Amino acid sequence: MLSSRMRSKTSRRLLALTLGFGLASAALGTAVPASARQADPAPAGSTAVASARYSGSAEDTAGNKAFFEAVLNSVAKKQAANPSLASVTVYYNASQAPTFRSQIASSASIWNSSVSNVKLQATTSGADFTYYEGNDSRGSYASTNGHGRGYIFLDYAQNRQYDSIRVTAHETGHVLGLPDHYSGPCSELMSGGGPGTSCTNRYPNAAERSRVNQLWVNGLAKAVAKLNKTR
Ligand SMILES: [Zn+2]
Repeated sequence: MLSSRMRSKTSRRLLALTLGFGLASAALGTAVPASARQADPAPAGSTAVASARYSGSAEDTAGNKAFFEAVLNSVAKKQAANPSLASVTVYYNASQAPTFRSQIASSASIWNSSVSNVKLQATTSGADFTYYEGNDSRGSYASTNGHGRGYIFLDYAQNRQYDSIRVTAHETGHVLGLPDHYSGPCSELMSGGGPGTSCTNRYPNAAERSRVNQLWVNGLAKAVAKLNKTR
């Protein structure tokens, strides 16, 4: 959906966002779907810069990174305000996805019991990212608005077709920095819809848990440094 040129431009802009802690804002790429736009707390006219779907193409890699960078950016601002924070807590707002309340709570529990260096916690204000729900032909995805803020969109139809907690936990995996790997087996959470609708595994495998722990070890500063190194 984004040309490589646009992705590159977006990536550079998001690098500035991450390093500058929100000094720049991007307004590139495709529009936010109507269902998400309606609930989007961002200023009117904001556009999505990228998205990462539950199942899709390699192009979603750009969306994975953009979303993770948006979350990092939000967490970084809080860490900067309170440098003594030892562990990284990522706060989410689930109030805009009431249908998926239990799936979102289960997803947070799954991740919090699977990894140790980063924790997910619900909040109703000042969240690092927000869950939304609605209908979108692209299915569920993690994305960013035009202002460096990440959100997860949960599609009704897809969540009926696939195991809903797996979908939610998969999308939440993007929050923690994991990319899609659709060719992987059902035992991988980030294989998403790749293994088909019969796959109901809701837990990250050992490699995925290890990758998240490594990414967030010693807190956010290292996570940002590693993120920048992978560019
Ligand atoms: Zn995905």
